[in-house]
Amino acid sequence: MTREIPTNASLLSRLEGEGVLRTGAVREALLSSPRELFVWDGYRDEAYVDWPLPLGRTGQTISAPHMVVMMLEELELRAGMKVLEIGSGSGWNAACIASIVGARGRVVSVELIEELVDFATRNIRRAGFEKTVEIHQGDGSKGWPPLEAEEIYDRVVFTAAASRLPELPVRQLRRGGVLLVPLGDSPAQILTSVVKGRAGDLSSRPVCPCVFVPLVGSEET
Ligand code: SAH
Repeated sequence: MTREIPTNASLLSRLEGEGVLRTGAVREALLSSPRELFVWDGYRDEAYVDWPLPLGRTGQTISAPHMVVMMLEELELRAGMKVLEIGSGSGWNAACIASIVGARGRVVSVELIEELVDFATRNIRRAGFEKTVEIHQGDGSKGWPPLEAEEIYDRVVFTAAASRLPELPVRQLRRGGVLLVPLGDSPAQILTSVVKGRAGDLSSRPVCPCVFVPLVGSEET
């Protein structure tokens, strides 16, 4: 018996059927950033299965498609936005964001592990988003540039779980901006949306339960 290999199209219709994929912009993002370009060698047949996949021996994973889609929908991204991502991993989420913010926008993504900085940089280039996405090696819990206090970003997204809200990335969020972070101790967390009001006030709202690898860094200790 032959097993059918899921395709990008079959994944999209499944996520639409489940009500996870809701907008044309996010649909377009998944079409222009095919996940098969971002999985580790040997995992191509599973690229469109809805589960996380290991990134070599780094102990890290490329997130499950439904999780990336939920975050993209929740962020309500628009063309021209400047976005900070903490945890580049494979570069897939950064590429999806880049596809929505477009050439006038910017994605700054920070990754701790050198091997993944190289992997994500290669994948972003292959997918054609190198003019919009910059990948940096460092501890994203300090924001980027590290320790900068200015309000720089329209959106901030953590793809690793923090036990509490890191201060610097919040400071770097512009007023009216949205920050998404999986909060809580592993293995399970709550994806939390934090909105910075016009007066600099913060209000947070739980979005859904989630499972991310833990954020590692000095701000966490
Ligand atoms: N967004 C990724 C998935 C990321 S997995 C994708 O689309 O593939 C989480 C990543 O966060 C891992 O690669 C891990 O190395 C990284 N990470 C953990 N703590 C970090 C920190 N303090 N700063 C930057 N990256 C961090």
